Amino acid sequence: MKVLVLNVGSSSVKFELIDTSLEAIQNGTERKLGRGLVDKIGATTSTVKFQAPGKEAFKDELNIPDHAAAIKEVLTLLTDPETGAIKDVKEIEAVGHRVVHGGEYFTQSMLLDEDALEKIKECFELAPLHNPHNYRGIRLMQQALPDVPHVAVFDTSFHQTMPKYAFIYALPYDVYQKYKIRRYGFHGTSHRYMTYAIETRFAKRPRKEFKAITVHLGNGCSIAAVDGGRSIDTSMGFTPLEGLIMGTRCGDIDPAIILHLMAKEDQSVQEMNTLLNKFSGLKGISGLSNDMRELIAAMQEGNERATLAVKAFCYRVRKYIGAYHAALGGADYIAFAGGIGENSALVRELVLENLEKLGIILDRGKNNSVGAKGGEITADNSPIKAFVVPTDEELVIARDTVRAIAGVIG
Ligand code: ADP
Repeated sequence: MKVLVLNVGSSSVKFELIDTSLEAIQNGTERKLGRGLVDKIGATTSTVKFQAPGKEAFKDELNIPDHAAAIKEVLTLLTDPETGAIKDVKEIEAVGHRVVHGGEYFTQSMLLDEDALEKIKECFELAPLHNPHNYRGIRLMQQALPDVPHVAVFDTSFHQTMPKYAFIYALPYDVYQKYKIRRYGFHGTSHRYMTYAIETRFAKRPRKEFKAITVHLGNGCSIAAVDGGRSIDTSMGFTPLEGLIMGTRCGDIDPAIILHLMAKEDQSVQEMNTLLNKFSGLKGISGLSNDMRELIAAMQEGNERATLAVKAFCYRVRKYIGAYHAALGGADYIAFAGGIGENSALVRELVLENLEKLGIILDRGKNNSVGAKGGEITADNSPIKAFVVPTDEELVIARDTVRAIAGVIG
């Protein structure tokens, strides 16, 4: 079954076509048929890209004024006679949509009907920057491909297994009842992929038998404690702002700081939101960049604030690993994914060094030489094994689409 995976953001549409089926999932015979991006929607020039394996990469600058034009362009890119992946849009048999927030409604991926779409709409106020765009993408693609099933895969659903004492905030209880303010957690597809990869590739052990700490370090960063395949805690909270230090987001801070700053500088809610989400994190501390590669380069040239940003970033991850080790009653595995987690040996070293007493013995040689396919980075005698896992969120979405259609989930 050819599944189109769609990730619609405020100004971009990412997509990938994957040939998969229940049988192919079982046998590992799935095929990636091509991936693309329509970026800077609404700007004077938008970038469009597509790459099918074995074919010439396509790239152009076009005028894509809105999401409707972007969705049309996705189908044009897929069916281009020279650089595309299919001859006709009729070859697309299903669409898997990434949806950021499923609130408490969705504990798993869901075949979309009007009722499910209504619930996604009800989650707009929980994720105002994401869900409206995800919803619009679904509606537009349903219009373009009305005869195929559409499935929603939520960033939050993997974490719906958290116990209440882990997701409740210590605020007056009616704040939870009235406004659904609680920890939800995000990056669920990546944490799920890491769990799957530990089970099938790295530890080769059924997920029911192990406890893992999964660490996603990209522009956004989060960490999860996974017990027997179920998320029992995660660092992102009511929104993706909480937890680890990120590219431009602050992660954990004392909430009183916000009140103090708003009073001191007479900042509006909107200004505060921008400060916490866009000007904090690695960028805020370093004053230089939100990009880890640039910060590591600056650190190596002796830039003090870049060094501080990298150290604070790694220290926060390390602290959470300790906390989740305790939350799990002892972890068996740690997995690193995301642009930083997969590519930066230095970050992984700063996070994991000198943790022998916790049962983590890093092997620097393995850590420095692990390749694009990932692998173990701890010593043979390390009680806890750590792995680099190249994450694949699109594959998780394609698989869930097939499973939801087959009625295996949802
Ligand atoms: P997103 O969360 O937007 O998908 P990515 O997962 O691609 O982002 O992660 C982007 C981050 O990964 C950036 O901070 C980038 O600098 C970092 N990164 C990518 N390659 C490397 C590398 N070789 N060393 C250190 N950081 C890297």
